[in-house]
Amino acid sequence: MWLCALLAVLSLGEPAQLLERVRGVPVPSDLPVRSLPREALRPFLEEALEDAYGDRFDDFAALYRALRLLPDGEDARESLLALYEGQVAAFYNPKDHTMTVVEGFDPESPILRLLLVHELTHAIQDRRLPLYERLTARAGNRDASLALQSLLEGEAVLVMTLAGADLDLLPEEERHRRLDQALAPYGGDLSGSVPDAPPFFVHDLLIPYQAGVRFVAGAYKRGGWPAVDALYDRLPCCMEEVLHEDPLIRCPDLRPAAGALTLPGRRAAVTDTLGETGFRYLFSTRLPGPEADRAARGWDGDAAVLFEGGAAAWLTRWDTPRDRREAVAAMRAWARAEGVTLARWTRGSSALFLISNPGAPPPPKPVDLRSILKRTEESDEHACDHP
Ligand SMILES: [Zn+2]
Repeated sequence: MWLCALLAVLSLGEPAQLLERVRGVPVPSDLPVRSLPREALRPFLEEALEDAYGDRFDDFAALYRALRLLPDGEDARESLLALYEGQVAAFYNPKDHTMTVVEGFDPESPILRLLLVHELTHAIQDRRLPLYERLTARAGNRDASLALQSLLEGEAVLVMTLAGADLDLLPEEERHRRLDQALAPYGGDLSGSVPDAPPFFVHDLLIPYQAGVRFVAGAYKRGGWPAVDALYDRLPCCMEEVLHEDPLIRCPDLRPAAGALTLPGRRAAVTDTLGETGFRYLFSTRLPGPEADRAARGWDGDAAVLFEGGAAAWLTRWDTPRDRREAVAAMRAWARAEGVTLARWTRGSSALFLISNPGAPPPPKPVDLRSILKRTEESDEHACDHP
């Protein structure tokens, strides 16, 4: 009965008007909205997982385990589904252009109103991009996926924050001051608000909101909505672009170079790019925060490859040889603390790491190391084709 009651009163009229006022673009108010009990979320989450990983989820999870980002012996799929199941309050589905709200909100509550503003922002983004095609095109490149999600979630959080306290009606200086205050919690550590779940998944769940809102609010404060609109002309393609406001950043793609990596007798299973935030997270698990930040900051491309038998090869490039030395030192400190075996080969700004479990038989040395490092060093391939 609750389901029907909520559906009957869930009108998008008021949130749509609010969003239109704040964002200044016409908003559809006739989107289908359904409400679901939390227990019925599973099939939607499973479908979203399928879209993000195809049928390769287990391979990706094995890669993250080999990189020690996920713990051994835990069902990664179940952990991730349970995490989303516990956290999702509402979602916009770009595949069928519908909105879903998890049951349990008072239809009159301001929180529900803001959730609808947030999800409606995704609906207008969908009309602009389209979302489903853009997101699935980045499947298999974690860094590029997070960068696009950061723009989308950053804008949605900004809009709902402005709408939540009618900040858009204030004079600019006051509005920016109040906005900074309202967004301050996103700069802190929010992981404590998420119960038992692998910290790497929690990090990936939160980073598009945290880094994204900083990125989008930065543009908004510089040039209002036209500056935010301009972000869509050149979609961010790696987290380095999201973290650092530097228009000269172009996102390198080392996956083609990593395609030439061969370990004798071992088949490569899957390749992914973890990006600056991936390294920052990895280092932060074993090094003090500022050190982890500094070492990751020199990131200039990576591609991690999982090989049969559980060994992972990680091809990396850094801005300068000095940055590379710093990253290698951080990797060595991390490996020591983590208790994994790390082999490494370097050239100029590039480094190839081979990570294996101490208990496992040592993996064979990669074939043709020189030419792989040369190709990495000289690679001019980019993850997205924006100018
Ligand atoms: Zn969202």
